[in-house]
Amino acid sequence: MLGRLTQFLRTRSKARKLEHYAIPDALWEQTVSTLPFVQRYGSDDLTALRELATLFIAEKEYSTAHDLPLTDDMVVSVAVQACVPILRLGIEWYRGWHGIVLYPGEFIIRRTVQDEIGLVHGVVEEASGEAWEHGPVILSWPDVSSPGAGLESDHNLPADSYNVVIHEFAHKLDMLDGEPDGVPPFSRVLHPGIDAEAWAETFLTEYDRFAEVWDKYPDDAWEHPERLPPALRVIDPYGCEAPSEFFAVASESFFVEPASLRQHWPVLYQSLATFYRQDPAPGGS
Ligand SMILES: [Zn+2]
Repeated sequence: MLGRLTQFLRTRSKARKLEHYAIPDALWEQTVSTLPFVQRYGSDDLTALRELATLFIAEKEYSTAHDLPLTDDMVVSVAVQACVPILRLGIEWYRGWHGIVLYPGEFIIRRTVQDEIGLVHGVVEEASGEAWEHGPVILSWPDVSSPGAGLESDHNLPADSYNVVIHEFAHKLDMLDGEPDGVPPFSRVLHPGIDAEAWAETFLTEYDRFAEVWDKYPDDAWEHPERLPPALRVIDPYGCEAPSEFFAVASESFFVEPASLRQHWPVLYQSLATFYRQDPAPGGS
């Protein structure tokens, strides 16, 4: 009986959220019109995405830094992009944290890194996004609204797949089972028959392959993408940093440039398709 009551209350609460936080038609259409990678979904998926984005808005707390005014456009744009990866997973995959903080531009991250001989250094770097374990997702609004705009002009994008929202929310999925390691958790219900260890082995082999290819190039090679083989232009070379970053940048390519990723990295594409339960390249479902 208790189970039924809980179910009833949950359904009622979901219906209330969907009604109370409903995204107006004009704002929904305007948001989708700025996001080509969202437009490829069919009408059933778009309906599901709109519902997920509404629940996301109901459950998350948005704030801004440096007096940046928070607008409905911002709230909806982040929600829609963030919900693309969980379209076939569900809102529960973003459980355990609430905050989204938008900055008026890139922001400073201070962290410590250990060098090859074990010395620890303080590093200060500019970032367009950051995801904290159990904490907020921080995003530079110019990077969210027009990908690439936040990057310095002398930095060519190695691929058109840049998407800071997908990147940071991929980290959130990876963090669901602890420290980010490039291997997200799998659900017995949603991923029946998937051997998580085999998945991890395949994914990490792809990471090694990617990092090894990049090892042969000088550090500044990605500033001249036209000289690189096509396979290296599909995924941001930042993925070489660690398996967790590889998962995040490969997820960007998977959703934003799926056809190229499938063409040049078919095994990696298939791994991500298995986890996300989506096949976004043309001809997929
Ligand atoms: Zn990252």
